[in-house]
Amino acid sequence: MAIRPLVILPDALLRKPSEPIGEITPAIRALAQDMLDTMYDAPGIGLAAVQIGEMVRLVTIDISKKSEDDEETPKAPMVFVNPEIVWASDELNVHEEGCLSIPDYYEEVERPARVRVRYRDLDGAAQEIEADGILATCLQHEIDHLEGVLFIDHLSRLKRERVTKRFAKQARRESAA
Ligand code: ZN
Repeated sequence: MAIRPLVILPDALLRKPSEPIGEITPAIRALAQDMLDTMYDAPGIGLAAVQIGEMVRLVTIDISKKSEDDEETPKAPMVFVNPEIVWASDELNVHEEGCLSIPDYYEEVERPARVRVRYRDLDGAAQEIEADGILATCLQHEIDHLEGVLFIDHLSRLKRERVTKRFAKQARRESAA
C-alpha cells in the first residue's frame, strides 16, 4: 500500500483526458489500492487516477462514512474501471462538492439527480449501476476528471476565475519558497 502525492490545481495534468484501460494487470490493481489508500488518508470520498498523476480511466469511491470522524461504519470501497455515464435523469439535484485537487474549497453544484454508469470491475467483468444521492454526484464528479473537467467548471465564470487565481497564486508562492 502507498499513499501517493495529490495533483493540485493548477497542475495541467488535471486538464488532460485519461486513457481507457485495456487488460486489468497487477499494476492496475496496485494502482487502485494506492488510490484507495490515498483517498482514505486525505480523507476523501472519491478519487480519479489523474489526481495521483496516472492518466488512466480508473475511479475509486467510498461514500459509507457518515461524517469525517465516523470511525465505526465499515469501509465500503468501490472501484470503477473505464466508467461511463449511459443515462442521466432530467431531474437535477444540488450537492455541495469539494475536490482533493482543490483543497478546502466547497461549492454547491447542480447535476442530474440519478445516473446509470457502465464500468468494469477489477476482475474485468462488465457492470452497471444506477445511483442517486451523493453517489450519483460523486460518480459524475469523478467521471468528469477522466475528461479533464473539474467541478469548478460547473460554477459561474466569476467563481471559477476567482478560485483558479487563488490556487495559481498559492502555487507561485510555494515554488518561490
Ligand atoms: Zn475531484
